[in-house]
Amino acid sequence: MGLHPEGARRMVELARRNLGEVLDAGAEITALSANALSRNEAQDHYNAAIRGMMAPGERIACAPGCAACCHNTVLAAPAEVLVIAAWLRASLEPGAHAALLDRVRGAAERDRGRPVRGRVGPCPLLAGRRCTVYPVRPGACAGHLSGSRTACEGDLDKRRRGLPGKPIPIVPESAEIAAAMRLGADLAAVEHGLQADDVELAPALAAAMADFEGTFEAWRAGREVFAPVASEGQPRAADRARAAARTLGITAPVR
Ligand code: SF4
Ligand code: SF4
Repeated sequence: MGLHPEGARRMVELARRNLGEVLDAGAEITALSANALSRNEAQDHYNAAIRGMMAPGERIACAPGCAACCHNTVLAAPAEVLVIAAWLRASLEPGAHAALLDRVRGAAERDRGRPVRGRVGPCPLLAGRRCTVYPVRPGACAGHLSGSRTACEGDLDKRRRGLPGKPIPIVPESAEIAAAMRLGADLAAVEHGLQADDVELAPALAAAMADFEGTFEAWRAGREVFAPVASEGQPRAADRARAAARTLGITAPVR
């Protein structure tokens, strides 16, 4: 069972309005961070509700310490990357920040030029099988639930051995909610002239950690601050937002 179209439209509009208010007020990093925190709190709330409503025989296998899914390339919005960089800057001592930046750069270098499907390394934000930025993790991570830990670990094992991965029984409702909230945020960013394209987390985060003020101010000024992944067949955020707005009957201006 997927999201009802009217429910999806409302979710998109809510996310668009929430982020739009932050951007109207000058896109301060504290407000962007609060927006990301409340977005993930909402997603966690929906995930718990989905878990509670599952039919007999269905289940969500995700649990703390389970992290096979954190061995995939993560795509995120530029605003999500900047919020994570701000979170790390505020929460880590300089030495720990420098060590993590080395790890993030190493992950970006490890994956540079390799097709996404051929990558199996851990996300550099994973430590002791836990996400170190869990409260502000990208929406794509927050909305990724699976019905089978065995399938996730089997997929990772096969990819590590250079074989094609296994299908993961993801929970579609959770992914659809994450996609709706991301679309609303993309609409708000596009309408404010800000880059919203999917970017690879590791290289973008390396840039944002190395020069937070420079990347943040460039993004706020409407520059394309991180390399988009459009070259790998992803539609640009503005095109995706316009098409989805038409499909959902959202009529207010989308630039
Ligand atoms: S998606 Fe798979 S690997 Fe990730 S927490 Fe859930 S069951 Fe574990
Ligand atoms: S950001 Fe966190 S949840 Fe997402 S892949 Fe990295 S460690 Fe896992």
